[in-house]
Amino acid sequence: MPELPEVETVRLGLQPHVEGQIISKVHVERYDLRRPVPYDLGQRITQRRVVELSRRGKVLLWHLDDGGVILIHLGMSGRLGIVSASTLPIRHDHVRVELASGDQVVLHDPRRFGFFDYCQRDDLVLDPLLSRLGPEPLEPAFDATCLAKQLAGRSGPIKNVLLDQAVVAGLGNIYVCEALFRAGISPMRAAKTVPHQGLVVLVDAIKEVLAHAVAVGGSTLKDHRKPDGSQGYFQMQFKVYDREGQPCPLHPDAKKHGIQRIVQSGRSTYYCPACQR
Ligand SMILES: [Zn+2]
Repeated sequence: MPELPEVETVRLGLQPHVEGQIISKVHVERYDLRRPVPYDLGQRITQRRVVELSRRGKVLLWHLDDGGVILIHLGMSGRLGIVSASTLPIRHDHVRVELASGDQVVLHDPRRFGFFDYCQRDDLVLDPLLSRLGPEPLEPAFDATCLAKQLAGRSGPIKNVLLDQAVVAGLGNIYVCEALFRAGISPMRAAKTVPHQGLVVLVDAIKEVLAHAVAVGGSTLKDHRKPDGSQGYFQMQFKVYDREGQPCPLHPDAKKHGIQRIVQSGRSTYYCPACQR
């Protein structure tokens, strides 16, 4: 499932091809995505210039020159690819946007949990998904003081609380496991009991893990124009995620160390009980 770093990688990959371009044609093959595609999408965005691509959480935002905004979510299986305008759609290509440059941006989503929506800039604050998102973890404003505020009064396990999109935007299961390991914090620890110094380390770990994933994703961007499956998404070496039973990367020879898997709120957590307190 695309998480924040994958979406950021897609944003960076699309940026040089999309920013400044005029949308020349729009094809909607299916309107029934997780959110219905606006019936008049083509009418609203055709002939508009894309001024800027930004991201909020896992939502890609295309800001248009008339104050309109395109919102794209990749859901569970969505991909955005770039092909030439003459390329015919394949199965699961739901929305295709032709640009004046001759490029075509295609939303391909077999499971249709993603969406391709549109609103006015002033209405972004009312969006049911965006309006409840917490701070952006890669923004400078996200620091230990900010995180402390978000965790105040939360007695649930830190792992689960960090997955709450209202606490931090866009953090997914993989990155929370990796960040908690790097910060030496137990996933079971009550969120509100992590001391300030622990939060300082945790914030650094979150930023580091996400930035690293974006950087690794960036190195695969040469494949980005192929909408055939492998493009855009990074391959990253995880320290704990999906490594149950393997040695702890920090203490590979120590007996008490080793990666364990537990289930918290139905999601797998991977951690080293000796390193993480
Ligand atoms: Zn360990």
